[in-house]
Formats: sequence, C-alpha cells, structure tokens
Amino acid sequence: MAKAKWSALPTQTLRAGEGFSLADFDASATPGWSAGKAAAEKFMAARGELLSELQERFFANAKEGDPRKLLLVVQGLDTAGKGGIARHVLGMVDPQGVQLASFGVPTEEERAHHYLWRIERALPTPGKIGLFDRSHYEDVLVVRVENLVPQDVWEPRYEEINAWERNLVENENFTIIKVALMPSHAEQSVRLAERLARRDKWWKYNPSDVDTREKWPDYLEAYQAVLDRTSTDVAPWYVVPADHKWYARLAVTELLTQALIGFEQEWPVPEWDLTTEKKRLRSTMTKEERKATQAALDGTKKKVKGAIADFEKAVAKAVKGR
Ligand code: ADP
Repeated sequence: MAKAKWSALPTQTLRAGEGFSLADFDASATPGWSAGKAAAEKFMAARGELLSELQERFFANAKEGDPRKLLLVVQGLDTAGKGGIARHVLGMVDPQGVQLASFGVPTEEERAHHYLWRIERALPTPGKIGLFDRSHYEDVLVVRVENLVPQDVWEPRYEEINAWERNLVENENFTIIKVALMPSHAEQSVRLAERLARRDKWWKYNPSDVDTREKWPDYLEAYQAVLDRTSTDVAPWYVVPADHKWYARLAVTELLTQALIGFEQEWPVPEWDLTTEKKRLRSTMTKEERKATQAALDGTKKKVKGAIADFEKAVAKAVKGR
C-alpha cells in the first residue's frame, strides 16, 4: 500500500479567505486528507520527528542571533480541542522549545491595562514556538457576545489588532499562524455530555459552558466577524474542522511544520575550529579514555549519518510537497 499523504496542504485548504462562511462550514470534513485516522496518526508521528528537528534548528539559529519568532494562536469554542493541540502537537517537540501562554478572564492587574498589554508580555522569544491558548481575540469574541464593553469600544479593536499584528510581522520578525478550531454543535453536545458522564472529566466542566453553548449563534457571528476582518495577508486565519480530533491535530502539525520549513534554516556554523577542538579534547584524555571514546564514536557514526540523511530527505520531500 502506498504511504498516505496530504492531497492538498492545510496552508491552502483551510485558509479563511474572502467569502468564507462559517454557516456553511462542515466541521466533520477532513480537507486534503482522505486516508483516515490510523494513517493520520502514523503520518503525524513521522511529522512530529521532523517538526522536532526543525524546532531544534530554529532554537540553535536563534542562539546564534537569528531574530525570527513564531507564534501559533489557537482559538475555539469550549471543547474545540485547544488543550489537545498543546498536548499532542506541541507535545512532540522539546518542552524547552515551546512558550505556552493561556489567557483566561483578565485579572485585576490586567484589567487596569490596555487589553494587548498581557498579550505583548507573553510573546515568544526567538527560537521558541509560542503557543497562545486563547488570545487577544477574546477581546472581540467573549467580550462582544457578553457585552463586557460597549460596541464603540470593541468595534475599533479589529483594526487595532490588524495593525498590531502587522507591526509584529513587518518589524519584529514574527510569523503568526492563527488557528480557529471549529467543532459542530452536535459534536460539542457529545463532548460536554462525556465530561458530565466521567468522574475524571468533571474538573474540565464548568456550568457556564452550557450558557456559552446557548449563545452558539452569537459566537458564530462573532467568529465570522473575526475571520472576515482579521484574516490578513501577514497573519491569516486557518479554520480547522474539529469534529475529528485526529484531523485537527494533524492539520495544525502541518501548519507549524510548513512554517518552520519556510525558515530554511541550516544548522549554525560554529565559530570555533573543529580540528583544533578535537585535538584539545583529545589532549585531556587518558590512554584508556581515548580507546573507549573511539569505540563509542565508531558505534554511533553510522547511526548519526543515517539519521541525518533521513532528515535531509524528509525536508526535501516536504519542501517539494508545499
Ligand atoms: P478554558 O475554557 O480555555 O479551558 P478557562 O476555564 O481558564 O480555560 O477559561 C477561560 C475563560 O476566560 C473563558 O471563558 C474565556 O472566554 C475567558 N476570557 C478569556 N479572555 C477574556 C477576556 N479578555 N475577557 C473576558 N473573558 C475572557
């Protein structure tokens, strides 16, 4: 059997462009992937290895002064699977390479500042994948639906957010990927019911989840406005069908992987001289240590060579498939 792969990448199929309508959105679809769940999980594991390598290159280059930064914004209604993205997608890379920030109801201190204050403070540093679990978009979503501030306050925020993001991309070396996870109303009922049915899920349940669910049409309208008004050329939205968790995770993995592939980063070239350093290290070894070290190197050489070749092949393939 041929190996399953994307027929069209999420960078193309999920991007919210002009005329995108949430009302017509099929949350159970799996755009670009027809091979099903088992194949997706296998593919994702391989992708995870690539993602992890690319993140390490990203980190290594940042250490050498590459100023580029990467931010993944994840929004979604309750039960959309935001936590699963953190666990299952970002969980595939080194935790030291991830900068996670969650945004809940603003604290008193946060409320005393402009709504972008707490967001700015959480922006990732170069070399790390910044993950926002909820974001500044709550300030035009929950805030709008729940009338937490009057319309003349939230209305100008769309433009303000666009300008703020544009500055990050054009002047602060950011790449921004915005993901809206969209489950169907029916799937949300199953997920909420599951939470109530299971003792170990009660902690995830909040009675206000049902209040929010009752306002589903209002939230859809607010999300539609976000997609219409803030999916820009510099920071586009990707709307991810989220009824199949495996698909949502696969798609977000691909979006991240493609962004890092786009950075085209080699391993940094060291400033020190390899031959000199090898000699210096050797001069500190006893005779026995030299022997043991040589034996260990002989054993790993083949393995390392093979792994590098595999990785280079995977990157070349991924670039071709873009
Ligand atoms: P989650 O539901 O994502 O697991 P929490 O239980 O901490 O996490 O919920 C976060 C809550 O904070 C959500 O109800 C969200 O709407 C709310 N929230 C986030 N940002 C804001 C904001 N700027 N203003 C008001 N409420 C917010």
